[in-house]
Parts: sequence; C-alpha cells; structure tokens
Amino acid sequence: SKTQVGFIGLGNMGNPMAKNLLKHGYPIIATDVFPESCKEVQELGAQIVDNPAEVADKADRIITMLPSTPNVIDVYTGPNGILKKVKKGSLLIDSSTIDPSVSKEVAAASEKMGAVFMDAPVSGGVGAASSAKLTFMVGGAEAEFTAAKELLSCMGANVVYCGQVGTGQAAKICNNMLLAIGMIGTSETMNLGIRLGLDPKLLAKILNMSSGRCWSSDTYNPVPGVVEGVPSGNNYQGGFGTQLMAKDLGLAQNTATNTKTPVPLGSLAHQIYRMMCARGYASKDFSSVFQFLREEEG
Ligand code: NAD
Repeated sequence: SKTQVGFIGLGNMGNPMAKNLLKHGYPIIATDVFPESCKEVQELGAQIVDNPAEVADKADRIITMLPSTPNVIDVYTGPNGILKKVKKGSLLIDSSTIDPSVSKEVAAASEKMGAVFMDAPVSGGVGAASSAKLTFMVGGAEAEFTAAKELLSCMGANVVYCGQVGTGQAAKICNNMLLAIGMIGTSETMNLGIRLGLDPKLLAKILNMSSGRCWSSDTYNPVPGVVEGVPSGNNYQGGFGTQLMAKDLGLAQNTATNTKTPVPLGSLAHQIYRMMCARGYASKDFSSVFQFLREEEG
C-alpha cells in the first residue's frame, strides 16, 4: 500500500488538491494554521497534526500550497518548520506561487538536510484543482522529476518540467504577467466599444474572430453576460483574487528589476492591480478591472 504523503496549506487550492490525492489512495497527513481548513480532508480520512515539523517527522513526500513567500519561508525554515524534522531523502514540493529566488534558497537549505526541494506552481484555478486539471510547472533536479510527477499527475492534467529549481516559478509569473496585461487590455477595449455604441456580445464575437482575440476575450470575458459561468457574471466572486494577481505582478517586477529586464506594461499592470486592492477590489476576481475602469469614467 502507498505511504503517507504530507500536505501543508489546505486553502482554496490545497483542499481540492489533497482530496484528489486521497482519491488516488494516498494516505494524507496534513496541517494548516487555520483549523477550520482541515475539517473536510479530516472527514475524508486525512490525519491532522499541529505543525509542519510533525508532518516531516511522519512523511517523506510533502506538498506545500501556501499564500505567499513569507509563509513558505516560515513553513520550511521556521521554528516548527519542515526542515527541523525532515528525513534524509525526502521529496519536498512547493506549489505556492512565490519569489523564485526564495525557491532556490529553500532548495539549498533542504539539500543541506539531505532532502530534495522542487518548485511546482500551478495554473488553473479552484475549478481545475477540483477536477484535477491543473498545469504544474516544475523546477528542480531532473532526476527527481519522475517521483514528483507520480504525485502531481493525481492533481493535474499537465506536468511540465521547466529546468533547474526556480524555473517553475519563472514560468508561472511570466504567464500571470501576460494574463494581467491581457485582462486590462480586454477590459479597456470592451469598455471603449460599449461607449461607442457596440453590443458587448457582438464586440466580443468580432474580437474572437479577429487578431485581438485572447483568453480574456474568449474564455473569461470581464463584461457581465458575455461568457456564461465566469466570475464577471457573478459579481466577480470566486475565481482568482485581485490581491493574488497583485502579488504575482509584484514578483514579476522583482525578478525584472534583479535581471535589468524592461517590463513597462507589466509594471503598469502591477500598479493598476495595487490601486484596485486599495479601493475595495482585493478579494474580487481579477477580471473586475473592467468594473474598476467603469468607475474611473469621466
Ligand atoms: P489560500 O489563502 O486559500 O490558502 C492558503 C492556506 O495556507 C490557508 O488555508 C492558510 O491558512 C494556510 N497557511 C498559511 N500560512 C501557513 C502556515 N505557516 N502553516 C500552515 N498553513 C498555512 O490560497 P490559495 O488560493 O489556496 O492559493 C495558494 C497558492 O496558489 C498561492 O500562492 C496562489 O497565488 C496560488 N494559486 C492560486 C490560484 C487560485 O485560483 N486561487 C490559482 C493558481 C495559483
């Protein structure tokens, strides 16, 4: 039978991901600082312990799914962190979206303890996490990829090897920078068209048969009523939060600064999403930039 897999961070994404591991017959040992988050997987048979060190004491394969960089540092290197109790030969996989330079630091600290760390951030939201359709972008030693893939393929449809540790994060933040730019561009374009008297559904149809087409225009349109079953039609609830998008754009800015790479539109997108957070949009889906622009109209 399969040995216990550790899971740390049972939030919006971690909950359905851990459930899919359980579905595939992996016994789970898990923890989260917010006890309420543990209830569902506990009822499904997962063992819940007090902190990450206790997880590492029992399991030699651990997945972490945490909000942001400081939480990852805490969970790995803090006083009750994984590295306090990690077993030699353990495989540690972080699926949070964080600063790639921190992934490299945590990998080095893990190696000192005889463990292997890989970064494996995901694209796809809560829906994709529930239906095991996530895409994992994996960075780390290629020799360990097969072992990581065994677990990740229970939670995702695509598991892509990107290169050395940190490159999974690099791929993720590049994608999200383009996504943010595309969403803002789609929103201001749709708004202009509406102001010029075009029906939004017709405008979207024309964009989507023309060269302006992108994921934000054809799959996740920010104008309510254009596409069914997306957050714009549900007062921008659910989906991918503006605050998380602002975080990812900040990560892209840090890496661009460190590598002296010009990213003018990524920078502007970051500022726009930060302003939205300050104006009450933090927990709305990031497509609410359409609504934000409407409020700015003269
Ligand atoms: P979330 O805030 O819903 O869940 C994170 C969980 O981690 C929470 O339950 C929190 O209590 C727990 N946690 C925080 N600090 C902890 C600690 N020290 N020890 C144990 N548990 C701790 O976030 P989420 O939406 O699940 O996102 C997780 C990551 O995935 C983020 O980095 C996010 O950017 C990324 N991501 C999210 C989505 C999405 O659509 N939500 C999509 C792709 C990627």
